[in-house]
Amino acid sequence: MAAHNSAQRWANAGRGGQPVTDAALPGARRLAQIPADGLSELVEAGRLMGAVDLALGSPGWPRPPKAMIDQACAALRDGNNQYGDMRGNGELRAALGQSFRTPADPDAEVTITVGTAGALAVALLGLVDPGDEIVVVEPFFEPYLASIAAASAVPRFVRAGPPGWRWDVTALAAAIGPRTRAILVNTPHNPTGQVLTEHEWAVIAELCERHDLMVISDEVYAAYVYDDGTHISAADVPALRDRAVVVGSFSKSHAISGWRIGYLRAAPALTRALRGIQTGLTGGAPVPLQQAVARSGLVAGQDWDPRPELQQLRDRALHVFRSVGLRCTVPRGGCYIVAELGPYGREDCQSFVRRLAADLGVLLAPGRLFMSDRSADSGFVRIAFNKPPAYLDTAQGRLATLEPLR
Ligand code: PMP
Repeated sequence: MAAHNSAQRWANAGRGGQPVTDAALPGARRLAQIPADGLSELVEAGRLMGAVDLALGSPGWPRPPKAMIDQACAALRDGNNQYGDMRGNGELRAALGQSFRTPADPDAEVTITVGTAGALAVALLGLVDPGDEIVVVEPFFEPYLASIAAASAVPRFVRAGPPGWRWDVTALAAAIGPRTRAILVNTPHNPTGQVLTEHEWAVIAELCERHDLMVISDEVYAAYVYDDGTHISAADVPALRDRAVVVGSFSKSHAISGWRIGYLRAAPALTRALRGIQTGLTGGAPVPLQQAVARSGLVAGQDWDPRPELQQLRDRALHVFRSVGLRCTVPRGGCYIVAELGPYGREDCQSFVRRLAADLGVLLAPGRLFMSDRSADSGFVRIAFNKPPAYLDTAQGRLATLEPLR
């Protein structure tokens, strides 16, 4: 039964980008723009097969800090169980505002949200009108399409390709048209691991000024920049001061993705407007958990820096997957490696992932899940390395017999 189920799930997972509804079903037309969430189905199928999960970005490493968990238990027991300040816990906004390289005014510029996902939804709903276009770098974090569709906006994609996975300035400029309202960037980037440079930010700022655009900057992986690199936030670029909406969270930095504590940072006038949407849409992020994060004393990162450990995991993962011939690009940040199939290139990325899971028990994410056209082969896979070190040991052992198909 389990085998039957998992085979069936495999058949459905990550395929073709079918919308979640069809024209005959009730529901708004924008639902038709949202592809089925292939990644979670895939991971479920892999689990049924007993595969080690290097597909999903759900943090397995670092472990959540004990101080936060203790504070969460205390917050619940102490009676912090009702609605709170809709802008977000004041202590948390203050700590967060101070933690940024360019500090933010916690009252005027920082709002606590339901994760980065919640912040992104608020930003899009607050910035775009139906039919407006959003420029998105492809490959991209797959749920972006759902948020963009929910705002009845239209995505315009700019390809970043191997081996460097950087976008081209001319292509970015060409994606901007009369209906463009914003550029959506993600640094460090999921899935490519690329980190925006000062020069790239200058290009983005120039385009935003020239075409009067906003930039929405997803910085959920800000804590993870490697090799002595630096995370540059949109908020660190003076020319973008009034044009940037920065979103992020504690999901990955402190490995508490289930707590749903994120933030949105924007200039004061925009913040005032966006808070109205945040309140109407969500009623705020979980109150006791906001308090727990604030009181842990770990927001600014002085006593909490999992980056060296993550860098070691990155290097180990690069070694494991390069030794079987995959062409891995070194990620400069984030929690993922993109790997071109190289000697396995005769296989479609989806079949390769399926073979690895079914025959060897190692689950990766097929690259096509991060592309606008899921029906075409992407030629790459994504490897998540924010996992317990033992996962990589297991994967290495299991991959020992991997060979290209003849
Ligand atoms: N943006 C990107 C690029 C992500 O990878 C993720 C999580 N995988 C999110 C947003 C969502 O993060 P959160 O848990 O803070 O909603």
